[in-house]
Amino acid sequence: MKKIFLSLLLVGIMFQSCNNVQNKIKTKPYLVVLSLDGFRWDYPEKANTPTLDSLEKVGVKAQSLKPCFPSKTFPNHYSIATGLYPDNHGIVLNWFYASDLKKNYSISDTKTVTDGRFYGGNPIWNVAEEQNVKTATLFWVGASADINQKRPSHWSLYKEDLSKKSRIDSVKKWLSMPLGERPQLIMWYYHEPDGIGHSFGPEGKETLKLVEELDAYLADFFKEMRKLPNYNDISFIITSDHGMKQLSPDKVFFLDKIIDTADLEIADGSNPIYNLKVKEGKLDKVYKQLSNYDKNLIAWKHNEVPHEFHYGTNIRTHDITVVSDSGYSIYWSWNEGNSKGTHGYKNSCKDMHAIFYAAGPDFKINYSQPTFNNIDIYPLMGKILNIDIPEVDGNLDNVQNMLK
Ligand code: AMP
Ligand code: ZN
Ligand code: ZN
Repeated sequence: MKKIFLSLLLVGIMFQSCNNVQNKIKTKPYLVVLSLDGFRWDYPEKANTPTLDSLEKVGVKAQSLKPCFPSKTFPNHYSIATGLYPDNHGIVLNWFYASDLKKNYSISDTKTVTDGRFYGGNPIWNVAEEQNVKTATLFWVGASADINQKRPSHWSLYKEDLSKKSRIDSVKKWLSMPLGERPQLIMWYYHEPDGIGHSFGPEGKETLKLVEELDAYLADFFKEMRKLPNYNDISFIITSDHGMKQLSPDKVFFLDKIIDTADLEIADGSNPIYNLKVKEGKLDKVYKQLSNYDKNLIAWKHNEVPHEFHYGTNIRTHDITVVSDSGYSIYWSWNEGNSKGTHGYKNSCKDMHAIFYAAGPDFKINYSQPTFNNIDIYPLMGKILNIDIPEVDGNLDNVQNMLK
């Protein structure tokens, strides 16, 4: 009798705790965000992109997505993840010297990319995890770092050669996990058409061909997603970090022919944006040489970058920011590049703008969204995931209309 009573009690307790777990487990919503690096806003007008065109019909297409300045990969992916301008999250370029930490940061150095001390702000995956919403990332900038001793539930070190198919398999695997383990936010990344855009320029036929291949890849991706039982609960965002500008071989500045490199302590950056730290007493000399050289070469002192760019106030941007007008290159004479395309220019240049498409249960159908800032994606993600987010530079008011 005593034995039966104990068993019943045990079953009762198990049933109750199962119920508690079930109550805590959220079964939706799901949000899958893909960034295709360097996908300029108007590539779909230049190439044949039936998948993106159909996304527009069943969901939202933005006129364009405005990146933060400088329109480089790392600052912008981390702005999307944090809702902050690069000055406010600290990833001010792809490579920089962090005077505050007395350490160099480089996108090609795993040790620094995974070092959470470089990253400010509250990335969306950490905010979600704190609120019991599991997240997974595949190569999103910052997601392999322990930021405030936290990480997404699933992440991995950057591996550029991971096949396109394996990337889809990862997303599918995550969305097929048992409830309780299944991530509700997935942020994944692919490095094209940025690479081809650098090699052949945004006007190159090779670039537009790859854009078409990526569109076919998206068709494969959605085919796999449709097989998932929870497909109807998933919202999708297809976006990018910046655009691409065709370069002219005759529009080139060589920094070392304008200023004396002996006056410099640090020169961070790559075509067409650099942050310079000058030796003591040399600031006005170097600034004058740069700003008087050519009308297509722009130099700003620290704290004097025009407000619209929200840049040049972080200690990591050093003493002077130099950038050229779009289409112009800035190199060192010993390191002249031969790219046909680049990015990094002012974000007011439309060629720096990226794509933004979204579809799923939360998004309006066939809705045309005006150009908006990529920092607004953060509050948008927070709203879709139904989580509380901290106050950031981005604002939900700018994007709310695309939601049902
Ligand atoms: P860029 O065009 O110079 O601004 O940077 C683009 C490059 O950034 C890509 O070709 C990738 O190789 C690299 N990249 C993007 N995401 C990551 C990451 N999470 N970790 C390391 N490298 C990355
Ligand atoms: Zn990029
Ligand atoms: Zn690039």
